[in-house]
Amino acid sequence: MKIICIGRNYVEHAKEMSSPLPSSPIFFFKPDTSICKTKNFYHPKFTSNLHYECEVVIRIDKVGKNIQTKFAHTYYSQFTLGIDFTARDIQTECKKAGLPWEKAKGFDFSAPISNTWIDIEKHPKNIKFSLVKNGDIVQKGETKNMIFSFDELISYISTFITLKKGDLIYTGTPAGVGRVQKGDQIEGFVDQQKILDLKIK
Ligand code: MG
Repeated sequence: MKIICIGRNYVEHAKEMSSPLPSSPIFFFKPDTSICKTKNFYHPKFTSNLHYECEVVIRIDKVGKNIQTKFAHTYYSQFTLGIDFTARDIQTECKKAGLPWEKAKGFDFSAPISNTWIDIEKHPKNIKFSLVKNGDIVQKGETKNMIFSFDELISYISTFITLKKGDLIYTGTPAGVGRVQKGDQIEGFVDQQKILDLKIK
């Protein structure tokens, strides 16, 4: 199983990072050891600026390569929410040096994911989601605002890399990313339904 994460897929988030808008999807990987399915997340010692990025996650249902956009919807049927935890201090150093980001993005348990999967077919097309930190809404997203749709992402990624059953795609974060510290509580919502609950320890 591989975890593919999309960067800068929401205009307002690209702006808050002072990053140019992509003309094609930007993607990177996290290893399977980054998955975190528990309610506790232990703040790693190697970063002093750990950021949450709440994202809609889709799961690939079958193997595919060179998938056309018009057929991409047949490759996934459910979505959930995940957090793309980012050691922003380390990422900034890597970016400055022109180096890969993996140690800032792919560390152990850097990809918390909800255990609740929602059928795409039964859900309105535009997914509205939010992240609440210590009781305050800090991120609000709508998938209609993605620069590249789920189908476009699948088509693009599969041009380079074979997608397999069980692969996860973290589809990018909306604006409002920020720091978490020990003691914080973050909760992810789809519409009004809480499906992710994480205590930072
Ligand atoms: Mg992200």
